[in-house]
Parts: sequence; C-alpha cells; structure tokens
Amino acid sequence: MPVYSMRDFDDHEQVVFCRDPASGLKAIIAIHNTVRGPALGGCRMWDYGTEEDALVDALRLSRGMTYKAALAGLACGGGKAVIIGDPSSMKTERLLRAYGNIIDSLGGRYITAEDVGTTPADMAMVSRETQWVAGLPSELGGSGDPSPATARGVMNAMRAVAEHLWGSDELSGRTVAVQGVGKVGSSLVARLTKTGAATVITDVDQIAAERVAAEHGSEVVGLDEIYDVDCDIFSPCALGASLNERTIPRLRCAAIVGAANNQLATDEDADRLVARDILYAPDFVVNAGGIINVAVGIGSYDVRRAATAIDNIQIAVSDVLATADEYGINPHRAAVRVAEERIDRIGTLHRHRGLRRAQ
Ligand code: NAD
Repeated sequence: MPVYSMRDFDDHEQVVFCRDPASGLKAIIAIHNTVRGPALGGCRMWDYGTEEDALVDALRLSRGMTYKAALAGLACGGGKAVIIGDPSSMKTERLLRAYGNIIDSLGGRYITAEDVGTTPADMAMVSRETQWVAGLPSELGGSGDPSPATARGVMNAMRAVAEHLWGSDELSGRTVAVQGVGKVGSSLVARLTKTGAATVITDVDQIAAERVAAEHGSEVVGLDEIYDVDCDIFSPCALGASLNERTIPRLRCAAIVGAANNQLATDEDADRLVARDILYAPDFVVNAGGIINVAVGIGSYDVRRAATAIDNIQIAVSDVLATADEYGINPHRAAVRVAEERIDRIGTLHRHRGLRRAQ
C-alpha cells in the first residue's frame, strides 16, 4: 500500500513518534524548520481516524507554522504536535506529563503550546515536566487564551486591506460578514462594532449567534446565506476550506480577511479569487496574532509588548499585498515567497557559521 502521507513530507527536520503505554499517550511531534529559531507550534489533541491522518495533520500544520512564524517576524521556526485521542475522555495528568517529558527530551528544539483539544491549563500541567512550553494561563503569568490576540491581528489585517483597496485604513462605515462567532469571531465582532463597522454573522450555534447579535447589533443570517451577503469584507472564522469552487462564485465582497486556518480548499482557489477581483489576505498572515502572543510569552509575558508585535500584522499584510502586485502573483503565493525569502536569508547565515566552525 502506498504511504500517501509522504506527499506531505516537505524536508521536515525531525518527526518524532511517541508512546506512553501507561497513560495511553500516542503523539507525533513534527519539527518542520528551525532555521529562524526553535520550532514553535501548538499541540492538537484529536480523535484521528487513523495514525496516518494524524501524521498528515502534523506534517501540514508544522509546515504552515514555519511560514506563519517567518511572516510574523518571529525568531521561531515551525513545529506542531498531535496527540491521538479524545480529549474529553483521555486527557489525564499522567498523559500530559508524559507528553511534557517527551518535549523536554527534545532539548528546546520544539516549544509546545495549546491548540484545538488542549487548553492553557493543560500547558500548565505539561510545564511540570519541561520549560519548553508556552501559552500558560494568565493567572500563572502566561499569555493565556490567544483568541483575543488573534482577533486583534485580524483587525490589523483588515486595516491593511482597507488601505490597499480604498486608500484609508478606516473601517468605520464598512460592512463585514463574519462566518463563525466563536472565541475569535465574537471578539472580532466586538472590535468591529467599536470601530463603527456593521457586521452580518452566522454560526451553527444559533444561541451563540443570537447572543453576539444582541450585544453588538449584528444581523444574523443562515449558514449558507453568509456567502451571498453584500459586504466589503468576508471573514471566515469557523472551519477551513470555506473558500472553494462552489462558494467563490457566490461571494459579493471586495476582500477576504479571516481567522480560520486553511481557508482555501485548494491552491487554485487563490486564482479563482483573483479572477473574481476579490482580494484575499492569506490566512496564515492574518491569523498570526495568537502565535505572536504565545511567542512573546516565552520567558515572561508582557501585554504591551504583545500588542505592539500583533499590530505589526498590518505591515506584514501590506508587504504581502505589495509583493503580489510587484510580481503579478496572487497574495497566497506572495506570502509563501516572502516567508521563504526570510528563511533563506537566515539559512545562509547559519551555513557561514558552520563553515567558520569547520575551519
Ligand atoms: P471556536 O471553536 O471558538 O469558534 C468556531 C465557531 O465556528 C464556533 O462557534 C462554531 O459553532 C462555528 N462554526 C463551525 N462550523 C461552522 C459553519 N459551517 N458555519 C458557521 N459557523 C460554524 O474557534 P476559534 O478559536 O474562534 O477559531 C476559529 C478559527 O480560527 C478556527 O479555524 C481556528 O483554527 C482559527 N484560529 C484560531 C486561533 C485562536 O487564537 N483561537 C488562532 C489562529 C487560527
């Protein structure tokens, strides 16, 4: 049988398979690239159908983290860990500490943090075994829940897009359609309302949508209707792949700026958006606020330093859009290009250092 997951193996530096039979821990840690610094990335706990699904997720997500960290200007590389299992039934102190023990054995090449299925409190447990963990609860002096930071970054990205399209980074008077009002989406709606933008929202959780609407005066539409909303910016903040060959022809927006990971179903969808004259701000630049917040919290967390670093997302998005214009490529490709250039520049530096050592 062919090993399909090897297609996703992109010169990853190290992939570690871990077991702790006593706790049932089965984890995969993928270190994609450490050229710019230690690999930083969350730990996802998920009931994967197969170990191969888990491996593919770890390989893809860790590569994405390399690009995200480089574009955010962090002195970090990209990595990701996945724990195979249902977080609601399998998460125990032993399992989290066994995981921490393995992270510790990597000696700082990988720094873990929370992700889907894990929480800042879990990271506090992991920290009993290793110092190589970030995103601890704010009560313990850590950076805490990254969602408000992610929403702040999405706002900055929207400002860059507004400046690019309309010559001013002002968002008041604009209409934004937000798909998914969970932790990030609801915080984003609050910020947009405060700045004078109108919001149209949807969520599978009707109660959550109604609550956000009551608080911020948003209009609520159906799950499928969100694609037809006449708006300035469409903001995917739910799941991935919401931009695809079925939805893109329906969109009635000038730009897409959202928090969801992997918004494009395929790379061709970036070209489909160009063909429709819709400006797409690449998700891994837009949603970096959370990881920037976590990175700032390595060592000791400072909220003002974090805010300044997150606000730089406005510059990062502007740079990507300018690169896309300069080379006549879509913004997704432009973002990958900018990230690879930044990694290559540092890579050369390390090669010289290696040569000096060899002499
Ligand atoms: P969340 O689970 O709190 O919120 C997601 C919301 O989307 C939920 O309210 C859910 O009911 C809703 N939803 C699910 N499917 C939907 C659909 N088809 N249509 C409309 N709504 C739907 O998650 P979150 O932390 O707010 O993250 C949102 C997205 O942003 C995710 O894709 C996540 O990976 C990404 N992201 C989050 C962070 C962060 O800091 N939390 C950082 C980077 C990226």
